[in-house]
Amino acid sequence: MIATTGKTNLLGLTQPEMEKFFDSIGEKRFRAGQVMKWIHHFGVDDFDAMTNVSKALRDKLKAIAEVRGPGVVSEDISSDGTRKWVVRVESGSCVETVYIPQGKRGTLCVSSQAGCALDCSFCSTGKQGFNSNLTVAEVIGQVWIANKSFGSVPATIDRAITNVVMMGMGEPLLNFDNVIAAMHLMMDDLGYGISKRRVTLSTSGVVPMIDELSKHIDVSLALSLHAPNDELRSQLVPINKKYPLKMLLESCRNYMSSLGEKRVLTVEYTLLKGVNDHVDHAVQMIELLKDTPCKINLIPFNPFPHSGYERPSNNAIRRFQELLQQAGYNVTVRTTRGEDIDAACGQLVGQVNDRTRRSSRLIAARELNAETDLAQNAAAQP
Ligand code: SAH
Ligand code: SF4
Repeated sequence: MIATTGKTNLLGLTQPEMEKFFDSIGEKRFRAGQVMKWIHHFGVDDFDAMTNVSKALRDKLKAIAEVRGPGVVSEDISSDGTRKWVVRVESGSCVETVYIPQGKRGTLCVSSQAGCALDCSFCSTGKQGFNSNLTVAEVIGQVWIANKSFGSVPATIDRAITNVVMMGMGEPLLNFDNVIAAMHLMMDDLGYGISKRRVTLSTSGVVPMIDELSKHIDVSLALSLHAPNDELRSQLVPINKKYPLKMLLESCRNYMSSLGEKRVLTVEYTLLKGVNDHVDHAVQMIELLKDTPCKINLIPFNPFPHSGYERPSNNAIRRFQELLQQAGYNVTVRTTRGEDIDAACGQLVGQVNDRTRRSSRLIAARELNAETDLAQNAAAQP
């Protein structure tokens, strides 16, 4: 465990919470905006650098508050420009954040939990089991760290991060309150000013929380489908036994229609050789999704040791895509990025591997202790 300081961590406060905080210490509410800009636009964690805040208030803040993101254990840059950070959270575990540049777009893939309880059969995060929920500061802290590594330009100028997807480690809907608050900060102009269309929550299908979502936020939604019938889906995504497809798709349609605009559900489908990539599966999928306005994103399986699954051939992937396209669906195939730094979907395990260790730019002497902990942590895992 990382020792907590007892101070209020301002990094994780939404705008209304920040205003309440300044109210509670007898200060004017407009201070909230000033301080939030320093933190999120300029990546500042030192109150003394907040030059439009009086010296007296800075001293007061230093005594009772802090700006503390998760500790960066490593930062790696892939030959294709993809970046991966391994960060340590308060529970002592590590999680991963991945940045994927693509033309003018820069997508940050953010983790919501250390590990995951849902145990999807083809996911290495699931294989770890659940460790802890990330705090708001730890979720938004990943955006804060990434933004800082690009030079912390104010969020309104030529942003490196144009999109955020909650597709890192964990099931975001099982850490509901913290993920919602962090996504509000992603969209807030005093935070990162990212449009609601460009913030996406991906879920394996926690129906009651999808139903709850529209009361709190209007971000884009991605559903991890992976199988076109309940029998197969229950094998691959065990939560399907509790919330089967009919119920799940209805809940997704309700959420999408609550957005009241022309926004469509993204359906993610990890293609597993010989398991869910037959012509029959495509045919069933066409029927299953016929009443659900959506675009489909096929994700060729990213292998990890002892997974027991294989990635289909490029021909099989193309054939699956074409079948869906012929039925009128908009279908993209996700290209694998950052393979040389183990940054692809489903490869995120929160560990610093040998390759990462060698190429890491940021492991400083002060983190050597942390490294030792990490090795112990890794050794303790099944
Ligand atoms: N828990 C959420 C979000 C994180 S997983 C969810 O399941 O939606 C992000 C995406 O990566 C999901 O669609 C997930 O099914 C997919 N994924 C997991 N393991 C994978 C692997 N080994 N290869 C390809 N995609 C994988
Ligand atoms: Fe959890 Fe998503 Fe992995 Fe399933 S795919 S185990 S829900 S992180």
